[in-house]
Amino acid sequence: MQKIITENSEQTRELAKLLALEIRGGEIICLSGDLGAGKTTFTQGLLEGLGVEGPYTSPTFAIMKEYRLQTTNYKLQTVYHIDAYRVEEKDILDLGWKDFAGKENTVTIVEWAERAENIIPSGALRLDFKWLDENKREIIISQKHENIKTK
Ligand code: ADP
Ligand code: MG
Repeated sequence: MQKIITENSEQTRELAKLLALEIRGGEIICLSGDLGAGKTTFTQGLLEGLGVEGPYTSPTFAIMKEYRLQTTNYKLQTVYHIDAYRVEEKDILDLGWKDFAGKENTVTIVEWAERAENIIPSGALRLDFKWLDENKREIIISQKHENIKTK
């Protein structure tokens, strides 16, 4: 677990660009936190860092946006950006979730991932955003662990 505080939106985008450097394909990146906490701002930095050309609008009304990478040095070909704010897990499954999420030629970014908890596999990267003040945000980076059932 890692805790980072950013002092403005540019720093949040820069943090996302650093994460983009680590991405090779197959990642599921889950963003949680209240409205205005910085999930979309972070996503924009991530898309930019991955080489996706803007403008990147939030998919709140489209549920999902799909970006094809033109040139890539790695296996990564497609970036999926899902906003789960207004949808149910079933809606995300209906998008073909199981066919792309976690596949090595994709990276999947999920805003409001807490609303899709049951379909997100353990090992997914988890970022929790918290509003501290007008320009400050706390970002906690961790991994979603297996929910071990005892019975
Ligand atoms: P969410 O997607 O979580 O609802 P957004 O990224 O859409 O949040 O909105 C965050 C808002 O807060 C933006 O208007 C952004 O400019 C502003 N902001 C101010 N400080 C920060 C910061 N440190 N990190 C991210 N966004 C910030
Ligand atoms: Mg958003």
